[in-house]
Amino acid sequence: MGLVVQKYGGSSVADAEGIKRVAKRIVEAKKNGNDVVVVVSAMGDTTDELIDLAEQVSPMPAGRELDMLLTAGERISMALLAMAIKNLGHKAQSFTGSQAGVITDSVHNKARIIDVTPGRIRTALDEGNIAIVAGFQGVSQDKKDITTLGRGGSDTTAVALAAALDAEVCEIYTDVDGVFTADPRVVKKAKKIDWISFEDMLELAASGSKVLLHRCVEYARRYNIPIHVRSSFSGLQGTWVSSEPIEQGDKQVEQAIISGVAHDTSEAKITVVGVPDKPGEAASIFRTIADAEINIDMVVQNVSAASTGLTDISFTLPKAEGRKAIDALEKNRSGIGFDSLRYDDQIGKISLVGAGMKTNPGVTADFFTALSDAGVNIELISTSEIRISVVTRKDDVAEAVRAVHTAFGLDSESDEAVVYGGTGR
Ligand code: ADP
Ligand code: ASP
Ligand code: MG
Repeated sequence: MGLVVQKYGGSSVADAEGIKRVAKRIVEAKKNGNDVVVVVSAMGDTTDELIDLAEQVSPMPAGRELDMLLTAGERISMALLAMAIKNLGHKAQSFTGSQAGVITDSVHNKARIIDVTPGRIRTALDEGNIAIVAGFQGVSQDKKDITTLGRGGSDTTAVALAAALDAEVCEIYTDVDGVFTADPRVVKKAKKIDWISFEDMLELAASGSKVLLHRCVEYARRYNIPIHVRSSFSGLQGTWVSSEPIEQGDKQVEQAIISGVAHDTSEAKITVVGVPDKPGEAASIFRTIADAEINIDMVVQNVSAASTGLTDISFTLPKAEGRKAIDALEKNRSGIGFDSLRYDDQIGKISLVGAGMKTNPGVTADFFTALSDAGVNIELISTSEIRISVVTRKDDVAEAVRAVHTAFGLDSESDEAVVYGGTGR
């Protein structure tokens, strides 16, 4: 008998019908002879709605209280799902993250899992239960406060439990049939990927493909847990994310040269204007940002004007951290020494990802040609060994993604990119 961990995202449990449909699927897995642990997200757009509500009572809600509020979303779905399973005549018990042994650090709103002690889950399984765990939440080791793992964090809960329970596979059920060569909501001709390496999936996830969260893929790679991303609405095989290619029929799936195109419109750009062009300036800007516990993404320093000896430094960061970053820099204005700050949240990022880039010259040139043919202006560029990213105007993003997807021959003949649910929020 094997142990499987299944995770159902918000769109799969958006309403009572969805919960009952998912309950049937879970019972099938149990009937096939498996021990089943289920991680569930909040129903539909509950998390977004709770955040909106919090912002109506306070523009910058305290992290601890926001976590208390948001974890209520997953509590609702876990209890309803356990009820629906019991109604089908099977034993089920629901657990909060804390009860399931998800121990985190104490960074509210984006805590990291530091240990998983699933004793109660094991006991529940041994007693014949299906264990339902609230995703996205844990308890801090030092203060015993309730924490959340950052948006999309239920994916990480699922993989962390799979690792701690030594599961054979972690199945991520969502509203599309797997990982595609681009977001099916943007590119109708996106192709389903049968297998993708942890490395390429990490880059796609880090570049904004929210079908899997970056930290979840990191975790899966560290503990070598294969992930199967698939739809909870169809019975189709999805995408395998693992270290070694899978067999299909009697042949191995090949590693693609280009895995896909990702986009991200959740970031903003801050430009620090009029920075003295001397050693130590960048260090003090980014020390200020780091001390505020803000992660940045891309950085560019403009050429300084010889006449003034001043330069501008721009960087991108999650929009959600924009306010905090501006406040931190303003507070340190005299220490750092700059003229002014510019904040721009009308940007978007497009990334091309693929391990084949390392050995195929011309990929960068083709990428920029596709963007220029589509009339898209580039504001920032960054690259890694297996990724090229650019920042453009937000309004150009969809067009740019489609242009690059076509230029790299990724368009499918059929319209296989079905979106079954969700609002894309
Ligand atoms: P869930 O609620 O199941 O966690 P998410 O909304 O977090 O679902 O993730 C699924 C969504 O990810 C899809 O509906 C799709 O719009 C988006 N997405 C972005 N990039 C990709 C991609 N490359 N392949 C598949 N889906 C993608
Ligand atoms: N409900 C949380 C969110 O919307 C966590 C998750 O769905 O993974 O971000
Ligand atoms: Mg998700």
